[in-house]
Amino acid sequence: MPMTTTNIPVLLYHRIVKKNESIGRHKIHVFEKNFYKQMSYLKKAGFTAITFEDIAKGNIPEKPVIITFDDGYEDNYRTAFPVLKEFGFKAVIFLVTRLKRNEWGIAEGEPAIDMMNDEMITEMNQYGIEFGGHTMYHKDLKKLSLDEAHNEIAGCKADIEEKLHKKIISFAYPFGAINSNIIKIVTECGFEYGISTNTGPENFFEDVFQIRRKEIHPHTRMFSFRRKVNK
Ligand SMILES: [Zn+2]
Repeated sequence: MPMTTTNIPVLLYHRIVKKNESIGRHKIHVFEKNFYKQMSYLKKAGFTAITFEDIAKGNIPEKPVIITFDDGYEDNYRTAFPVLKEFGFKAVIFLVTRLKRNEWGIAEGEPAIDMMNDEMITEMNQYGIEFGGHTMYHKDLKKLSLDEAHNEIAGCKADIEEKLHKKIISFAYPFGAINSNIIKIVTECGFEYGISTNTGPENFFEDVFQIRRKEIHPHTRMFSFRRKVNK
C-alpha cells in the first residue's frame, strides 16, 4: 500500500434529500441545497474526490477527499449523483445488498426509503462511483455469532462482485459496530479497507481497517464543513 504523509478526509453521508421529502428522527439526511454548497466548496478549494480503489492503485492527488454514502439510498442516484457529475467528483457508496428498503430503520419507526436498483448501480459504476459492502441485511455485526457475521460480510461482497464483475475492496461497518473479531473477518473476506464512523485514528493510513469518517449532519454549516475537511 502506498504511504503518504497527507491525511485524507473521508466524509460520511447517508441520504441527500429535496426540500419536501420525508425525513426521519435519525436525521441521516442532508438537503440537496447544502450538499450542493459543500461540493461547490470542495471544488473551489481544489479538492479532488477519489475512491479507495484510487488509493489502492497509488493514485493519490495533492488534495484528496473521499465522499462516502452509507446504505445505498435511491436518492443518492436521483439527487446526489447529478451534483457529483456537475463537479466531476467520484464517490463511494456502501450497499446493503439484500434489502429493497431500509427495513432496519422502518422497524424503529423511520419512514420507508427505497434503496437503489441494479440499473442505477450499474450506471454509477460506469461513471466511476466505487461500491463497497455494508452487509446483506444491515446487521449490527457485534450482535451476531462469528459465523453469521462472516456470512453477512462475505455475502455482500459476493453480491456486488456478481453485479459489477469486479473485485470489491472496501467495507463499511453498519452502525459503526466494530471489534477485533469483526475486523479479522473483514480482512479474511478479502476487503482491503474497513471504514468506521467515529472510531479509529485521526490519520487515514494508521489503520486502514478502522478508517474514521467525518459525518455531515443536516445542520452542518459551511464553517464547520470547511473545518472538517481541512483538519
Ligand atoms: Zn448503514
